[in-house]
Amino acid sequence: MYSQSSISNRRSSRPAPTEETLFGLTCVICGTDYRTAPTVDALVVSHSGDGPTMACRGVCARMASGSATGLDEAPLSLAERVRRYEAGRARKQAGQARDEQPGSDA
Ligand SMILES: [Zn+2]
Repeated sequence: MYSQSSISNRRSSRPAPTEETLFGLTCVICGTDYRTAPTVDALVVSHSGDGPTMACRGVCARMASGSATGLDEAPLSLAERVRRYEAGRARKQAGQARDEQPGSDA
């Protein structure tokens, strides 16, 4: 049995969502990586700036969206989410390389 304090400690210390989470590659609640757990049923639970965020069907989806089945929205395929994630990362890296000012970072 979980104590309330350990649960709230865990939740408050949860790190900010990673890029993988924002692109729907990992569960926003438990962090399951859908690329390595393809059998997990991932559902759309909300939208970030980069796209739909996902959570596992059941407890995770209910914690994230209030419904065990998430939003009534068909998720993108895992392959498509990976493609968008890779494209977003490449875009960001290209932007960083362009903005880089050698020596200005003290
Ligand atoms: Zn989950």
